[in-house]
Amino acid sequence: MQQQIGIDIGGTTIKGGLFERNKLLKEVSVTTPARAGRAPILQAVYRVIDDLMTHDVTLIGVASAGNIDPERGVCVYATNNLMGWSETDIRGELEKRYHLPILVENDAIAALKAELKFYPDAQNVTMLTFGTGLGGASLVNGKILRGRNFNGARWGHIIMVPDGLICTCGKRGCAECYLSGTGLLKLGRRRMLGLTDAKQIFERAEEGEWEAQDIVERFTNFAAVLLETIRTALAPEYIILGGGISNQTNVMKELITDAVDGDVVLAKLGDHAGLYGAILP
Ligand SMILES: [Zn+2]
Repeated sequence: MQQQIGIDIGGTTIKGGLFERNKLLKEVSVTTPARAGRAPILQAVYRVIDDLMTHDVTLIGVASAGNIDPERGVCVYATNNLMGWSETDIRGELEKRYHLPILVENDAIAALKAELKFYPDAQNVTMLTFGTGLGGASLVNGKILRGRNFNGARWGHIIMVPDGLICTCGKRGCAECYLSGTGLLKLGRRRMLGLTDAKQIFERAEEGEWEAQDIVERFTNFAAVLLETIRTALAPEYIILGGGISNQTNVMKELITDAVDGDVVLAKLGDHAGLYGAILP
């Protein structure tokens, strides 16, 4: 039986999965050495693949943050969430080592591809992945929007606050500054003690801590504005919310309940959508 390995390279975790007939048989993950540069990130990817490898693997699919050229298998540009990852020939490096066909795709696009299996008739769908960064991908009239230099549908980097916080992309006030794990942690640390993880902000909000509740409320407001922007630009049938923060179901439920015509939905594959999508053509 043929098997595939899917890899999802995010700013915090590199996830890997061994698949057979689109079923996840085994999963491995390591911390992304995101500040260490290209070679250590590649080494971490190899560790995950080596852990999952079997004699039956016929394909490796990689979903990565950043602007990805899927034809060449290259990360054209990545923000500082993955330092030194810009211009990495992901396919070239993996082919040299594994001598297998290698697929490479943007992580949010991979997540969108996986989720689209649940909406076979939809022609206009946008995926948002709330993780270390804020990933975006859009299907427009049945086609994935890529744009010049694979820079289209980068919803995390539309400016929401002119002259706002500095983003990992170099601009100021991007959606990602207010709607990602990294952004939330930065905001939280200015106002709360003892924070090590953005998740704690949601937990402490639930426990009734006022500062945390205020940060979560701002998150929800910013997210609602972003959803409305996407609606105005693309009029999608669905906007799918995924990524690690989408596990904060209370917050996401509020966004979904406020949605117009039920057009906002949670990712059915949760924060595993990118992993499932990595092996899809
Ligand atoms: Zn940005």
